Amino acid sequence: MGTDADDKPREACGVVAMRCINKDAATYIYYALRAIQHRGQEAAGIAVNSKGLIVKKGLGLVADVISSEDIEKLSGKVGIGHTYYSIKVSKPENIQPQFLKTGVGDIAIAHNGIIVNSGLLITKLKNEGKNFIIESEEEAIIMMLADAIRSTNDIPKSIKAVCKELIGSYAFTLMINDRVFAIRDPYGIRPLCLGKLPDGKGYVAASESVALDVLGAKFVRDVLPGEAVELTDDGFKSTNIAPSINRAHCFFEWVYFARADSVIDGLSVYDVRKRIGWRLAKEAPVVADVVVPIPDSGRAHAYGFSMGSNIKMLEGLMKNRYIHRTFIMPSQAARDISVREKINPVRAVVEGKRVVIVDDSIVRGTTMKRIVSMLRTNGGASEVHVRIGSPPLIAPCYLGIDMTNRDQFIAGGNKEIDEIRKEIGADTLAYISIDGLVEAITMDKDNLCLGCVSDEYPVSIPGERRRFQQTLANFE
Ligand code: SF4
Repeated sequence: MGTDADDKPREACGVVAMRCINKDAATYIYYALRAIQHRGQEAAGIAVNSKGLIVKKGLGLVADVISSEDIEKLSGKVGIGHTYYSIKVSKPENIQPQFLKTGVGDIAIAHNGIIVNSGLLITKLKNEGKNFIIESEEEAIIMMLADAIRSTNDIPKSIKAVCKELIGSYAFTLMINDRVFAIRDPYGIRPLCLGKLPDGKGYVAASESVALDVLGAKFVRDVLPGEAVELTDDGFKSTNIAPSINRAHCFFEWVYFARADSVIDGLSVYDVRKRIGWRLAKEAPVVADVVVPIPDSGRAHAYGFSMGSNIKMLEGLMKNRYIHRTFIMPSQAARDISVREKINPVRAVVEGKRVVIVDDSIVRGTTMKRIVSMLRTNGGASEVHVRIGSPPLIAPCYLGIDMTNRDQFIAGGNKEIDEIRKEIGADTLAYISIDGLVEAITMDKDNLCLGCVSDEYPVSIPGERRRFQQTLANFE
């Protein structure tokens, strides 16, 4: 992960679903959530069904929120879980899984993504006389599901009907009484995959394959865009809920969000990052003595850059791994110290050297500026060149990532690269091109969301340009 949480895009959640033959669903979910803790560190929760819904959730890391006593109480064969980073204000009532006891039973949901038209859906439900507790998009989805199940008495059909109303990004895990589902939006914007526990012990769905690895589960496949998969005692039962005309996988999953040991939509995150670095070395070569990764986010990109440039890579920056979250210090002196305690140059590596630092992205540029300066003043580097593994971030994300306004980007407002270079104090600065990025991911450009670097989005967002003009109206 990045060196400064305030200067990195933040992921908005990780989800898990579990169906097992014994009553250990919560144990599996607990470990799976810990494996995807990087996707959200503000809150966590687990819901299981065992002759009724039991939920434990709270603010904090998974290990802080769920105790061994909780796991004992959360005894059940089916369950869902969530790690949370709220792009809204962190309020305890927003923590997921969210649940309601409805006329058709207990419904709980864990959601990664953003429903762009949630305001309209909530207004519509209110006009129909529904009473909301927290007015969240998840609460709206539960209410819509309950209504649909009441009228169709068919859960997959109801999921399909509700998903047709949703615009935005969603990877859900959903528990309706003792049935559990994993659902992915028609564009496949956020990741979701399926696995099988060893010795026929059960089935799992999770945001990233690394969660399956930790459980010893075998990766089966990704949930397809526009697919709802029920986890059953014998495996998976698939329902097509919407046509997937264009995929729009979030490119940032490979560049930064996902763990490097995950495989997303068939592509190893580590390999993609390495290819990005290699490509960057070809697109923006530099004469230098050493390639230094920004720990930990730029490591695989830097390795690729080193291979592509034939410049050796060395660990010229060390990160203090025991600092997770700091409150904003009141004095400038204290703030300066807090940056230096997070990351420090290795003088033996960088002193007198022409250094290339490689990272995945720059949002505000504040951390990068400090690192460049630190390499010169504390480390004694003679030159500092910066190479970035994503194109310049210029536009907000409306689809689940915490980059919600245009003012926050150092590259915003059509700024020239040289202006940014001056701001961060580097000798040279280069970002990978959009075409270079797409080639490194090895996926068709039309199957990627590139909204925050191209300013064109895969779904209709009021006031923004849309890339795909197809309509889902004819789908039955
Ligand atoms: S706008 Fe950017 S961060 Fe958001 S989903 Fe698209 S590619 Fe990902």
